[in-house]
Amino acid sequence: MKNNKHDHPFDQVVESAIKKMEDGMTVFQKFTCSKCGQRLTMDVPNKFFVEGTCDKCGTITDIRKQGCNYMAMYSSDPTKATPAQIVAAAVDKKRH
Ligand SMILES: [Zn+2]
Repeated sequence: MKNNKHDHPFDQVVESAIKKMEDGMTVFQKFTCSKCGQRLTMDVPNKFFVEGTCDKCGTITDIRKQGCNYMAMYSSDPTKATPAQIVAAAVDKKRH
């Protein structure tokens, strides 16, 4: 496993991202391919996947094990979800 200073423990990142979502920001998960090191950004807003597919080499990265990060942006159309709904929807136990 490569150590990547850009990535942090999954649960910690999700917790931090949920706070941003509650502030009305839109977040996109970012992670690093465990094989080729490509920096990848998910295209699904406000969602954290436990596994991600590399656009470049097709490798599946175990994001829960490797860690991740996110980018947050102000949205003109912020989520109307309640905090409980945001938390319930934030983690997707699927591959993307
Ligand atoms: Zn890759």
